[in-house]
Amino acid sequence: MDKIIYSEHGFLFICGRKKLQTCLAHRFLCGCYCIFIIIPLIIQFSSQCFICFFETLILIWIQRWKQRRRRWWWRRRGMVKRRIFLSVDVGGTKTLMMLNRERKILAKKLYKTGKTEFLKNLKKNIRQFLEANEMNEKKIYAAGFALPGPFIIKNKLISIKSPNIENYRVIHIESALKRIFRNLNILNDAVCGAISEHEVGALKNANNAIYVTWSTGIGGGLIMDGKVRFGKEGNCGHIGHTIISDKKRKCGCGLYGDMEAMSSGKSIEKMFDNKISAEKIFLKRSKGNKKAKKIIDTAVEYFSKGVFNGITLLDLEIICIGGSVFLKNEKVLLPKIIKFFKKHKNPQSDSIKIVKASLGEESSLFGAFYHTFKKNA
Ligand SMILES: [Zn+2]
Repeated sequence: MDKIIYSEHGFLFICGRKKLQTCLAHRFLCGCYCIFIIIPLIIQFSSQCFICFFETLILIWIQRWKQRRRRWWWRRRGMVKRRIFLSVDVGGTKTLMMLNRERKILAKKLYKTGKTEFLKNLKKNIRQFLEANEMNEKKIYAAGFALPGPFIIKNKLISIKSPNIENYRVIHIESALKRIFRNLNILNDAVCGAISEHEVGALKNANNAIYVTWSTGIGGGLIMDGKVRFGKEGNCGHIGHTIISDKKRKCGCGLYGDMEAMSSGKSIEKMFDNKISAEKIFLKRSKGNKKAKKIIDTAVEYFSKGVFNGITLLDLEIICIGGSVFLKNEKVLLPKIIKFFKKHKNPQSDSIKIVKASLGEESSLFGAFYHTFKKNA
């Protein structure tokens, strides 16, 4: 038979035949001891500041609580199965938009980015796109944006400073878009490319790979040990601004001789006469124009050099190339890149695979969607 005994603290506890159970007061005191003495001591020895640790925990908790409240609200209105997602991919010359109801695509449209008044144009295009599909910003459950980098994070808000958007002016994009969309997800466009290609495209099942976009500018996204990497400000894999030449050709970012200055679509245009588009220069090359041929050959050489340095540094197994310049001229460019890799063999480049982006020019758009969708799963 169990005996009921009162402890010295006045709390009730039960004394069994063999085992004595701890009274409530002891449990309470042990709990306090763990929470207020042992855990802070462990944190103190394992990290720099335990106040920061608790602050992070509280912030994560608040974020999760907000998400739960939002989901509860949508469920209450019976709208969980009808969540609408907006995805936007902003490039140097064009902006792609897509609307999804869960995974189903409702609409897609292409707009011009515009060389001036970037934010004003972007907001106008979004409004037009939503109105054309009988939507408004309040009906959007979450919005994902793929934007050209580099990103700058100040006061936990993302700003962009891109050579291809308003000539390298700092644009406080997150604070502007947060006024329109409450549930916002902003990512680097090339990182988005890596996400979608890793999810459903050419990099599916790849553990160590790079996605490189060769377009108006040059960007990159990395997959290391099976995971897409973001870096401290979301710029991980931004290969376009790595210096590969000592030539005095200036990039919009201010550097001389970086990959973007030596081989991007914009650089090809500058090298020719800065009057016609890269697309027309490729057309001239196919018609036998010697100047166009020389410029394109030089650009491929520099592009290959930059990517080669990347795979040697990071020990990668596969290179996936996207972007309008590459995708429209794959037959001309891919054999030249492969030739460069065969010429400069080393143990890391020997077994490297070079493939084109299977989602084409929509890689970044789908990447923005997949990441936003998963974040809100
Ligand atoms: Zn640059």
